[in-house]
Amino acid sequence: QIAFLNGDFLPLEEAKISTQDRGFLFGDGIYEVIPVFQKKLFQLDAHLDRLRKSLTAISMQDPYSDEQWKALLNDLVNRHPWNDQFIYLQVTRGIQWVRDHTPDKDLTPTIYAYCNPLKPVSESILQNGIKIVTLEDIRWLRCDIKATTLLPNVMMKIAAKEQGADDAILIGRDGQISEGTASNVFIVKDEVLLTPPLSDRILPGITRMIIEKIANDHSIKVIEQTLTLADLEAADEIWLTSSTKDALPVCLLNNAPVGSGKPGPIWLKMQSYFAQAKHSLMQA
Ligand code: PLP
Repeated sequence: QIAFLNGDFLPLEEAKISTQDRGFLFGDGIYEVIPVFQKKLFQLDAHLDRLRKSLTAISMQDPYSDEQWKALLNDLVNRHPWNDQFIYLQVTRGIQWVRDHTPDKDLTPTIYAYCNPLKPVSESILQNGIKIVTLEDIRWLRCDIKATTLLPNVMMKIAAKEQGADDAILIGRDGQISEGTASNVFIVKDEVLLTPPLSDRILPGITRMIIEKIANDHSIKVIEQTLTLADLEAADEIWLTSSTKDALPVCLLNNAPVGSGKPGPIWLKMQSYFAQAKHSLMQA
């Protein structure tokens, strides 16, 4: 496996960063995960746009132009044998020798990317869905930034697994559903698709955006509105969406079946629409 680090391509195991990197010491950085299908980067412009927004939010500049990102990421992908892969890409504020929360001026950002093979979602999940518990959302109020600081997400994922579930849907202290630990949430109620509106409580998921677009194209009504646990419990279908898994059907919520207890008809439709759209939405 090959990594890209600060302008160079090198074997993954030889990629090293300084212990003084602010990404390591403070979690002072942002990231993206970009899926690649048939060697083509999926929705690259949308990912680069979100990368830039995350950087702006933490008062950093994008180190590269879109053209530079496109060239280097395609180069990285083409150094690997897999048709379907995903790129992990991280930019941190860089190395600082004296510890201080305040960043020094003119730091050189650390830019890192590597690829993993993208595994298809298992047949058992496609047939039977996943098990979810609801947990209190213990994160901060800037979940719209794709920050590397993922400790709460990790803790909530561990808590979900300890309860025998695959993942968790997060509920704020005011009772509003935000998202999954690494995904956005949709529910289907009476054939209408509902999802929480964009805010500082959730990541503006690229998959969320695509699903809304596909639904519009196929006359499935989408409403962005605040959702609560009662909405989840009354849902006909629940989905979790993310770049590496598309839309996953949730069939058990807090040990109770969701709808029929099997992946629902709208999800099945969306699966085939999504597969078709992958071809038309792909870019070189
Ligand atoms: N929300 C969170 C917290 C995430 O970590 C992710 C992706 O990893 C998503 C939502 C889904 O975003 P995307 O569809 O862009 O992968």
